[in-house]
Amino acid sequence: MRMRKKPWAKDMIASRTDCVISEPEKMAGHWSQFSKSGEVRVEIGSGKGDYWINMAHLYPEAAFIAIEKNTDCAAISLKKCLDNTSDNMKLIVDDASKIETWFNENEIDVIHLNFSDPWPKKGHTKRRLTYRSFLDSYKRILKPDGKIVMKTDNMKLFEYSLVSFSNSDWYLREVSVDYRRDEHPEDVITEYESNFMALGQPIYRAVWQLTKEEEN
Ligand code: SAH
Repeated sequence: MRMRKKPWAKDMIASRTDCVISEPEKMAGHWSQFSKSGEVRVEIGSGKGDYWINMAHLYPEAAFIAIEKNTDCAAISLKKCLDNTSDNMKLIVDDASKIETWFNENEIDVIHLNFSDPWPKKGHTKRRLTYRSFLDSYKRILKPDGKIVMKTDNMKLFEYSLVSFSNSDWYLREVSVDYRRDEHPEDVITEYESNFMALGQPIYRAVWQLTKEEEN
């Protein structure tokens, strides 16, 4: 997605101390303070913020931590929630390759990967958010019964991810190759998702866990 550069982005990010966590490594071990229920959810690649903002309002008891490396996108998401932020919404404006330094072991309940960049070239495989090294980081920072929930329009990234997870220690708990053929009021439609739905494209979705059986 090409966007005109936003000259106001850096100032907007710096001014939003209500939402933006500028030194996330200092928060490691303390994220649950933003959660009434103790549940901590993280979205990697939150883009312009629709999912982050609307999920945080839909689940006010949980903490929602968005991670977005693109400063212009991050600033747009902050602009969208100027008047309707809440204490459970936090944003990290940085690259998720550092995620292990921001969270302690067993700290996260759910990681959402929504319409992640597909990085189709072979030489760029390591940049995919479902590449082995990312999965190892997620494993460390997720709680033992934590989940990774992925949605994408990109069939090749989806196929790659299914293999990547199954070559690590993960169990596939849910899978859909047309997630939006049913209503899912419990899950917000992201900006990319609504664009692909408007084009009639199917949405692929999968959920992975490290535990094989449902605990309850
Ligand atoms: N989740 C949004 C945006 C999808 S586009 C939606 O569904 O509408 C993918 C986003 O992920 C882009 O904004 C990109 O900047 C961000 N992104 C990609 N790799 C990232 C990384 N390693 N760390 C943080 N953000 C990343």
